[in-house]
Amino acid sequence: MKFSILASGSEGNCAFVEDDNGAGVLIDVGLSMRRIGERLKEFDRDYNCIQAMLISHEHSDHLRGAAVIARRQDLPIYASEGTIATVKRHINNFTRFFSLNSETLEFGNLQVESFSVNHDASETMGFLIVEGDKRLVIATDLGIVDLATLNWMRDCDAIVLEANHDVSMLLDGPYPWDLKQRIKGQHGHLSNEQAGEALAQIASPRLKRVVLAHLSQQNNDAKVALKSVKSHLKKAGHNHIDVIVAQQHCATEMFEV
Ligand SMILES: [Zn+2]
Ligand SMILES: [Zn+2]
Repeated sequence: MKFSILASGSEGNCAFVEDDNGAGVLIDVGLSMRRIGERLKEFDRDYNCIQAMLISHEHSDHLRGAAVIARRQDLPIYASEGTIATVKRHINNFTRFFSLNSETLEFGNLQVESFSVNHDASETMGFLIVEGDKRLVIATDLGIVDLATLNWMRDCDAIVLEANHDVSMLLDGPYPWDLKQRIKGQHGHLSNEQAGEALAQIASPRLKRVVLAHLSQQNNDAKVALKSVKSHLKKAGHNHIDVIVAQQHCATEMFEV
């Protein structure tokens, strides 16, 4: 299994995951169809290798390209019932919506399970993607890492986890008070500290790679996020994990899980 975070942040999120035969899925499509196509092309991939779009929730930074991609590429959209109910209003005359239910979905050799996370949308999901004995979790847009989410993250080879803000940068920053409270709240976004604490709790020798995602351009900084998360992992005795930050304006490299 391979993956790249094609874009990450409040201007748009999109991850590409493919199996060892080149069958892929997009997790969130918060950029235009053209922009996502350009980023796929950097890896010599295109929409022909995509089997489905999996949408974590209906916020536009995760959904922006969905309507156009669905129509032009005739790709199915998988999301929670709550997200589908909301999204349907925006994507007229499109019938290929499928519910992420408790069953395991299969796309090529990828097996995908989804789990609920705390966020202020209809019904936000995180994803566990498995191929053979390799396990990848992708979870962005969550206010807290509850015990259930922690359990999904255990025994993974790679984890993509939100590290949205540095709490002091957020509090000292220019956002209005109510927006700061929303971001910090239980249904908002994860701070660097929260991400670091969660990862330190579940990290195991098999966890090789962590990608920090959905960093706020206003309230965070890649160096600050890396320092915070790495120090939590180090304190817990996990020095072997490669931690990197996903970017808004360019794709990460294509990682082998
Ligand atoms: Zn969101
Ligand atoms: Zn978001």
